[in-house]
Amino acid sequence: MSNIDEKLQPILDQVLRRNAGEAEFHQAVTEVLESLGRVVAKHPNYLDRALIERICEPERQVIFRVPWIDDRGEVRMNRGFRVQFNSALGPYKGGLRFHPSVNIGIIKFLGFEQIFKNALTGLPIGGGKGGSDFDPKGCSDNEVMRFCQSYMTELYRHLGEYTDVPAGDIGVGGREIGYLFGQYKRLTNRYEAGVLTGKGLVYGGSRARTEATGYGATYFVQRMLETRGNGFEGRRVVVSGSGNVAIYTIEKVQELGGKVVACSDSSGYIVDEEGIDLDLVKEIKELGRERISKYAARQSRAHFVEKGSIWDVPCDVAMPSATQNELTGRDARALIANGVIAVGEGANMPSTPEAVRLFREAGVLFGPGKAANAGGVATSALEMQQNASRDSWTFEQTERRLADIMHGIHDTCAATAEEYGSPGDYCLGANVTGFVRVAEAMRALGVI
Ligand code: NDP
Repeated sequence: MSNIDEKLQPILDQVLRRNAGEAEFHQAVTEVLESLGRVVAKHPNYLDRALIERICEPERQVIFRVPWIDDRGEVRMNRGFRVQFNSALGPYKGGLRFHPSVNIGIIKFLGFEQIFKNALTGLPIGGGKGGSDFDPKGCSDNEVMRFCQSYMTELYRHLGEYTDVPAGDIGVGGREIGYLFGQYKRLTNRYEAGVLTGKGLVYGGSRARTEATGYGATYFVQRMLETRGNGFEGRRVVVSGSGNVAIYTIEKVQELGGKVVACSDSSGYIVDEEGIDLDLVKEIKELGRERISKYAARQSRAHFVEKGSIWDVPCDVAMPSATQNELTGRDARALIANGVIAVGEGANMPSTPEAVRLFREAGVLFGPGKAANAGGVATSALEMQQNASRDSWTFEQTERRLADIMHGIHDTCAATAEEYGSPGDYCLGANVTGFVRVAEAMRALGVI
C-alpha cells in the first residue's frame, strides 16, 4: 500500500472518500502526497489553513451536455468536462481530451498533475484540464466541427485569456483547436487569441508548439542520460503511441543520434530494426488518421504485433507517450531484464505505481510526466506571451526557450531531490518543487 506520512494520511483518506471510484485521481494524489512527508517535516506550516486539502480540491468543476448532429441527421450526445483546479499561479491552463474513456476522474487526475507541472515551468500558469467522452475516430470532418462548436457553445462562458486557457491533448489537435477557436470568436465577438493555445500559425499559433511536448521530453531525457556520461547517440529507443507527443519525440531522438525501433497505437505496435521511417508514420497517423499496422504493410522490413506489449521490445531508453497506466509492473520487469537505462514519460502518468517502484529499485533513470512532458504547456505559455505582445517568434528562438526551460526543470528537480535526501529521484524532485511554488502562492493569497 501507500507510503504516506501519518500527518498526511487523513488528508488522503478524505480525498479517497470524497472522490469515490475515481481510481486515476486517487493514484495521482497518492503519488504526490507520498513525496510531501519530508516537506511537511521540514516546513510544518504547510499543514496550516488546510492548504494541502485545498490543493486536492478543484476550485471549480463544470460538467455539461454536448448535443450534436451527425452526418445522417441523427442527434448524438456526449458529456463535456472542465476542471479548473488551481489558479494560484495564473489562469487555469491545461488541455482538452476527446476520447471515449474520458470521465470526471480522468480529468481530475490530469488537472491535478497539471498544477505541479505548470508550476515547474516557472511560468505564470495555474492548472486545469477538460475534455469529453466524444470519440473523433471514424467521424467526418464536418461531424468533428459540429461537435467542437457545440462543446464551445457551453464552455466559452468559463474561459478567457485571464481566466482559463485550454489547449489540445489526446484526440484534440490543430484541427479541433481551430474549430473551437472559431466558435469562441463567433460567440464572444472578440479576437482573443490568448484564450486557446496550440493554434495554427496563420491565426496566432506559436512556432514549435506542435513539436514542443515530444522535443521537450527528449531534451529532459538527454539531460538525464548526460548525468551518466552520454546522451542519445547510438541508443536503441522505444516510443509508445504515434500521436502528437510520440511523433515529435521520435523526430528529436533521431536528430540527437538515437535509433527508435518501435512505436504503437491503440491497435498494436510496429517494430522496425532499421529505425522508424518518421515520414511514413506522419503520413499514416498525422495526415491519414489511419492505423499504425499500415506501416508494416508499406515497409516490408517492419512487422506489426497486434497483441502483446511494446515494452517487450529491447531498448536502452523507453519513452511511453500514449496514455495513462500503459506501462505496468510486468512491462517494467521486461524492460529492466532487457537492460533499460532510462525511462522518460511523454504521456501523463503512463507508468503504474508498481512500475515506478521497480524502476527506482533497479536504479533506472526515471523522468516522471509532470516534469518530462512539461515542454508542451511551457510552449503554450510562450504562445500566450506572443499573443499578449502581438508578436511572433522564430522557430529557433522558441525552441531555444523550450530547451532552456526543460534543462532548468531537470536541474531544479535534481537539486530538490538532493536537498531532500534522495539524489536522482526525479519524482520527489518534481512533486516537491511544484508543490512548494504553488503552496507559497496559496499562502500569500489567503484562504480562498
Ligand atoms: P494523440 O491523440 O495525438 O495521440 C495519442 C496516441 O496514443 C495515439 O497513438 C493513440 O492511438 C494512443 N492511445 C490513446 N489512447 C490509448 C489507449 N487507451 N491505449 C493505447 N493507445 C492509446 O495525443 P497526444 O500525443 O497529444 O497525447 C499523448 C499523451 O501525452 C497523453 O497522455 C497526453 O495527456 C500527454 N500529453 C500531451 C501533451 C500535448 O501537448 N499534446 C502535453 C503533455 C502531455 P490511436 O491513434 O489508436 O488512438
